[in-house]
Amino acid sequence: MSKDSFEIAILAGDGIGTEVTDATFAVIEAAQARMGGFHLHQHEIMAGAGYYRDTGQDIETDGEERAGKADAMYVGAIGLPAIRAKDGTEIAPHLRLRERFELYAGVRPVKAYKGAPRMLLDERANEIDLVIIRECTEGLFYTAAVHDRSPKTNQDEARETLRLTRSVTERLCDFAFRLAERRKSSGGKGMLTCVDKANVFQAFAFFRKIFDERAAHFPDIEKSYAYVDAQALELVKKPWELDVLVMENMFGDILSDLAGGLVGGMGMAASAEIGDNHCLFQPAHGSAPDIMGQDKANPLAAILSGAMMLDWLGWQAGNDRMLEAARLIEQAVSDGFADGGLRPMEFGGDMGLQDMTKAVLSYTKAARID
Ligand code: ATP
Repeated sequence: MSKDSFEIAILAGDGIGTEVTDATFAVIEAAQARMGGFHLHQHEIMAGAGYYRDTGQDIETDGEERAGKADAMYVGAIGLPAIRAKDGTEIAPHLRLRERFELYAGVRPVKAYKGAPRMLLDERANEIDLVIIRECTEGLFYTAAVHDRSPKTNQDEARETLRLTRSVTERLCDFAFRLAERRKSSGGKGMLTCVDKANVFQAFAFFRKIFDERAAHFPDIEKSYAYVDAQALELVKKPWELDVLVMENMFGDILSDLAGGLVGGMGMAASAEIGDNHCLFQPAHGSAPDIMGQDKANPLAAILSGAMMLDWLGWQAGNDRMLEAARLIEQAVSDGFADGGLRPMEFGGDMGLQDMTKAVLSYTKAARID
């Protein structure tokens, strides 16, 4: 029998993070009630800038350990620009989770929903359905992460390190190939593009070499290559032709926002960070202090991140009801946009957080999946 009971560590965090997290788990519970066949045990972990202001700690004692013991971590949004650690940086305990639990595969789905705002005039933009896999633990963020705090800037010069390792790159490529395979099995294109700058940097030639080595293990997937600058152009000109793209940390940081912009923006951008033994899900947006507490936040990125969590856990555990619950939520969002029932303020609509949440709940209760 497949696993049907899961522990979820919830770090709702700051600003709209807490608001969209509540919305997400209300929708997850509605999908769970309809599908049955699995239970989520929610464990709240106090963390974030507000918590730091009140206690002097950015995450509760043992919070990281408890998060690591859960089957999945869910983060709302962490950090408030006005509250800083002693060294001047923003409060970001979730970045330590990424390091500590080696969450190397950042997954950013970019999907157009018919009826949702889109930036491209071409009708084919309705068919955009791609995934960016961004490496999350090394690359050009290596020195910015906890790895290397040695001074590298003086009055005359500033240096950063771009570091790629064989171990992480192999696992990253395998992850991306497996995702392309899985998408192919449900009608996807079966393509994986290696995005790099292998014509200029040795590090990216190394990345591409490893991509090629791993490709040999996935003969059913069509592999291709793109230099990151050309890929940026293609993402704007014909994103509907793309499937899965894998890349270094900084390239992924930039291209995933670009791609997210094609299908609506931050309020639609779901994301996951996945490692060999742990996984974390969170909307790609921040705590948006400018709109917090005003019933204005669009909860869809958070809700779709929740659906990704059900999908990932369900896939890992072989729990079909959970996979169906994930599809139910995606279908609810799709139905809502298609018939004009989801009109987030973020896109100039008249629906705030509460109305959006209620609407997604009712679409989730009514959605039909084959
Ligand atoms: P971070 O650095 O923590 O990612 P940020 O400064 O890049 O944060 P966000 O907090 O994501 O920015 O917000 C950027 C802008 O987008 C804000 O003006 C905010 O109002 C808007 N925004 C972000 N997320 C949402 C959302 N879910 N619904 C509506 N507006 C949003």
